[in-house]
Amino acid sequence: MQTLRLSNISTDIRRAASLLRAGEVVAIPTETVYGLAANALDEVAVAKIFAAKGRPADNPLIVHVLSPEDATPLIRPGVVDKLTALSAFIPGPLTVILPKDNKVPSIVSGGLDTIAIRIPAHSVARALLHETGIPLAAPSANRSGSPSPTCMRHVLDDMDGRIAAVLDGGECAVGVESTVLSLCGEVPELLRPGAVTLEQLREVLGEVHVAQAVLSPLREGQAVTSPGMKYKHYAPKTRVVLLRGGSEAFAAWCNTRDCMALCFAEDAQYLRVPCFCYGSSGDYDSQARLLFDGLRTLDESGFAPLIAAHAPDVIGVGLAVYNRLLRAAGFELVEL
Ligand code: AMP
Ligand code: MG
Repeated sequence: MQTLRLSNISTDIRRAASLLRAGEVVAIPTETVYGLAANALDEVAVAKIFAAKGRPADNPLIVHVLSPEDATPLIRPGVVDKLTALSAFIPGPLTVILPKDNKVPSIVSGGLDTIAIRIPAHSVARALLHETGIPLAAPSANRSGSPSPTCMRHVLDDMDGRIAAVLDGGECAVGVESTVLSLCGEVPELLRPGAVTLEQLREVLGEVHVAQAVLSPLREGQAVTSPGMKYKHYAPKTRVVLLRGGSEAFAAWCNTRDCMALCFAEDAQYLRVPCFCYGSSGDYDSQARLLFDGLRTLDESGFAPLIAAHAPDVIGVGLAVYNRLLRAAGFELVEL
């Protein structure tokens, strides 16, 4: 299959919409990362997403809609109020898990009786939802297990020839996937940290639990609330080690090894190995935005067989960056 590059946003939204309506898969920009979109109500179209990504069938997809009103037919009657209560973050980089309506095909939810709903803020994603008039299932547009794509080039690196088209919306502003919050239990539970932070959610909702898998590996046989937690994730081909400590200690560790560094701006003066700087140590927004580009760029460079990643603090958006790096490193963490 030839993958169309759709770079003229003013005319190509309609082209992308007609491909989606015809049951094809199109990669689309969102404010978090690029998504691999298909009609969420068309099982055959959704199956193409799983095939293109090589995604395990029990890892459910996020369904994108324009408004809580458009989410209503997809969720159990009466639960839409839970969504509107989060209006401070909607539209935006927040995914909410709610009990699902039977009309949503079970392939979308990986066989669960819940559904992940997101209302994106990105103007291109919104224009496309408006033009298609259908809910769009869209996981991140990477091959399963790889770092998520934050620009069209990343999408093509993974998906060229596997999907009908990619719609170019430039670079993603956030850079890490949406915050995933389950509202199915008594207390809201954070399943995946993102740009809508735990601190922000607690301000609005009061108590919010953090799923154990956010910061630690699953124990053998442990039940998971979010199937995506089970898989190695966000990982380049090169081995990644995560290091926590000050700039000089980080550089000293790197300089005695055959490695490349994913580093903070403050580290660069001490480093004598190839590096990709993903922001200053306190700038979690920059770290989130550049994280996956950094992992992909270092991976492609092939300069060394190891990526040493300098870990951010686990506050604000830093928690999301730390969570992705932990998984990219297969939980290999060194305290300096
Ligand atoms: P992705 O779309 O690639 O960013 O991945 C979506 C994430 O949301 C994965 O970690 C899924 O496991 C999670 N997810 C999607 N639907 C559900 C659901 N119904 N319950 C729990 N987690 C979900
Ligand atoms: Mg993903």
